[in-house]
Amino acid sequence: PTDLNKLAEEYLRLAYQGLRAKDKSFNADLRLNLDPNLKLVNVAPQEIGRVLLNIYNNAFYATQEKLKQTGKAGIVLDYQPQIEITTHKGNGQVELRIKDNGTGISPEVINKIYQPFFTTKPTGQGTGLGLSLSYDIVTKGHGGEMRVESTPGEFTEFVVSIPS
Ligand code: ADP
Ligand code: MG
Repeated sequence: PTDLNKLAEEYLRLAYQGLRAKDKSFNADLRLNLDPNLKLVNVAPQEIGRVLLNIYNNAFYATQEKLKQTGKAGIVLDYQPQIEITTHKGNGQVELRIKDNGTGISPEVINKIYQPFFTTKPTGQGTGLGLSLSYDIVTKGHGGEMRVESTPGEFTEFVVSIPS
């Protein structure tokens, strides 16, 4: 039985520290809205941890890309990267939401993100396997669901739900 609040926070720190080790000047607001009534769930913690790490790394990357654009025409000058994790005890399921205020995902791209090897990143920066693997772990591996919502230029939110 796994405490997903703890797992979500642990892996967020792991992702953030890994990134800051490479880029000391990067900083992001990390917000955690953790539901204290969350139930323990039977999951493979390393696998769900891997899913979280993939989603977090994508989220940080999207904020870094947006940061590079700040100051250019039409983009806000005072951009602060932000990642918000929300957990919620639903009816027979536990929900994890990961929201970033990065580049967002365009409508042409959003239907392809779970395809193996699909990436919009430059060579060497992405394999395109993170989300396809994550999707399989959540759905086939744990009988859960994974959805995404995004407004380009504003935010992206992934929702992972796991039966409890
Ligand atoms: P990779 O990170 O190697 O590109 P993924 O499977 O993790 O592969 O993601 C596939 C694609 O989905 C990314 O290249 C990117 O275009 C898009 N994507 C995923 N998460 C986000 C996000 N939080 N913000 C913007 N785009 C995203
Ligand atoms: Mg990725």
